[in-house]
Amino acid sequence: MKYVVVTGGGMSGLGKGVTSSSVGVLLQACGLRVTCIKIDPYLNIDAGTMSPFEHGEVFVLQDGGETVMEKERRGAYLGKTVQVVPHVTDEIQDWIQRVAHAPVDGKEGPPDVCVIELGGTVGDIESCPFVEALAELSYRVGDFCLIHVSHVPVLSAVGEQKTKPTQHSVRTLRSLGLAPNILACRSNSPLEGYAREKLARSCHVSSGSVLSLHDVGKNVWRVPILLRDQKAHEAVLRVLNLDVKEPDLKEW
Ligand code: ADP
Repeated sequence: MKYVVVTGGGMSGLGKGVTSSSVGVLLQACGLRVTCIKIDPYLNIDAGTMSPFEHGEVFVLQDGGETVMEKERRGAYLGKTVQVVPHVTDEIQDWIQRVAHAPVDGKEGPPDVCVIELGGTVGDIESCPFVEALAELSYRVGDFCLIHVSHVPVLSAVGEQKTKPTQHSVRTLRSLGLAPNILACRSNSPLEGYAREKLARSCHVSSGSVLSLHDVGKNVWRVPILLRDQKAHEAVLRVLNLDVKEPDLKEW
């Protein structure tokens, strides 16, 4: 099982969901069997009671954070103090691995790749246990590709794409034990060469792994094509130690 994790920095609503699903589509178009997980770092236990106007995913989620409570009541922790690290973080990793291995395409056996979207913004208090769990998972599983989505604004007075917000959010990510393999830069217009080079150098990724996730207007179905044209699938497949293939997006 290989994992692709999508995190976001700076602010929410940048396009983590669209990035996760577009990467999933691309990998499927490369012939891989793909599943996905959306992690929302909220304390609600029954996802069905959450507003679908705020969280489109609530229709599909069933299990919540009760596993630690159930284990404690069963005495599984032998009366010991239950702590965020290692008990909650271990539970999150076990849960991710269990869900990731479940086939979702009607075929037998586990999928090849699980795309995990971590909701919220890296550095927020509520996502900390999940970030720590994902950092530990990256060592547990080996084949792990992290895509970090962040904002590249243009300061109108200067007319220049600014890379500092992305640099800062990558620094926050690193301080929490996760290093990005790929940067997906959300901007109004295509990412300029100088911004790409600056981000590659300052965030320690190759310039081919700095992707422009610029505005495509209302038709977000263009995002997988945008990513394919920048060879995002090659960048992901290389990190996951998989053979590089050309995606066939015809049926999408
Ligand atoms: P997040 O998961 O980071 O909160 P979403 O993936 O839900 O963000 O995207 C937020 C909104 O932005 C959605 O309405 C989505 O359709 C839109 N969006 C995301 N990426 C793009 C893009 N490249 N061009 C245009 N709209 C986009």
